[in-house]
Amino acid sequence: MYIDTHCHLTHCFGSPSWPQDLTFDSIHYLIDISISPQEILSLSQYSPHPRIFRAFGFYPELCTMWTPEEKRRLCHWIETLNPLAIGEIGLDYHHHYGTPKLQQNLFVDQLALAHEYRKPVLIHSRNAFHDTFSLLKTFHPGTAVILHCFGYGPHELEQFLLLDNIFISFAGNVTYPSAHSLREALLRTPQERLFLETDAPYLSPLPMRGKRNTPLYIEHTYRYVADFLQLPLPTLCEMIATTFSRVFLSPKL
Ligand SMILES: [Zn+2]
Repeated sequence: MYIDTHCHLTHCFGSPSWPQDLTFDSIHYLIDISISPQEILSLSQYSPHPRIFRAFGFYPELCTMWTPEEKRRLCHWIETLNPLAIGEIGLDYHHHYGTPKLQQNLFVDQLALAHEYRKPVLIHSRNAFHDTFSLLKTFHPGTAVILHCFGYGPHELEQFLLLDNIFISFAGNVTYPSAHSLREALLRTPQERLFLETDAPYLSPLPMRGKRNTPLYIEHTYRYVADFLQLPLPTLCEMIATTFSRVFLSPKL
């Protein structure tokens, strides 16, 4: 049984629910991510599946529409929908959403909400290592910080690991032949800080690369990583399940 710490059910299936004709047997838990007011609003229409957790936050793209009113709405949703985590939030300088300053404001405000509501955070960081690192250092929410779809190399990893309560989640791109520095980062990630995710429907792992990703493909990433780290597959599954319980299901780290 596998845990997928990051996927987008709405982007995969058109709604934040698991399709009835698709098996869920191999999935232990998954975290479904909603990244906009529209996606968050639709969550209340679906009754929760016991092994599907919700996380939500305003994606960096929304930095130009972040106002005190939007913040009040987000607080209301956190209080009423009680997500497992806040995210994905962060910085994306690859896509030039708004300005760096606007992205940073949105990111820091949501780190403060995570602190206030005692929620772990799921971080999106692309082409923005220095600002992500320095903002996390200054505005650390005090809760678990999960770097989703880790996209940096071993040097950046070492820096991030200096921060408190940092966890690293690798996606299917760690299986790609050219991902040498990502695998170097994987090798140096302490085993008790490791998560795996699909980020479905994006970034399908080998041998499904090029196909539309689904949380069911998490199995390929687990097999690849177990082989790469020379761990028995059940050991890797157990290790990540233990970390998941500690970070997400226990009241305190
Ligand atoms: Zn995502």
